[in-house]
Amino acid sequence: MSTEEELIPRLVELYHRMDDAYSAVAEKVGLTCEGCDGVKCCTVDLTLHTFMEMHYLRRGFDSLNDAAQLAILDRCRTILKAKQQDPWGEAYRESVCALNLHGSCILYAHRPMICRLAGLPHFFVRPDGSQKHSGGCTTFQNKIDTLHPELEIDRTDFYRGMAELEMEASLQRGQRTSPRTIAETLCL
Ligand code: SF4
Repeated sequence: MSTEEELIPRLVELYHRMDDAYSAVAEKVGLTCEGCDGVKCCTVDLTLHTFMEMHYLRRGFDSLNDAAQLAILDRCRTILKAKQQDPWGEAYRESVCALNLHGSCILYAHRPMICRLAGLPHFFVRPDGSQKHSGGCTTFQNKIDTLHPELEIDRTDFYRGMAELEMEASLQRGQRTSPRTIAETLCL
């Protein structure tokens, strides 16, 4: 079995831990994606930084039927062409992730960490001890923020777990991973 296949159970377990932590807080404060088309969260420049997340996303993609794969690849190529022509232009910046079909993620079970944790305000502790804080999604800001102004989810352990997996994968592969957007992960 290849290294990446051996590491998948650990990635899935890490994803479950994130999902559980996220759901517990989201349910408590009433944050839900229902009725949201995801356009503000599912942006084209969301970036994957680890080989395992790219591998797992491609694995999900491979499980789709041919027609779905072709439609997604077509959308990815359009996104990449727009990026190549002008990475700061409207055609690229206003595109939506190629996996967001009619407001739903077609690879929801395989979506990366950045998508799983989006929506709730969060912080993480950097290796030097400093903290980075970021706010929640538009729905959170409009409906929940004033009721729970102190709410933040701690991403530190999730980032650490992902970094450990990436270190193992990089050592086994003998190379570091270049960051890629979702379109780049599926198309290049
Ligand atoms: S992978 Fe899914 S959840 Fe993540 S940005 Fe794309 S459509 Fe949205």
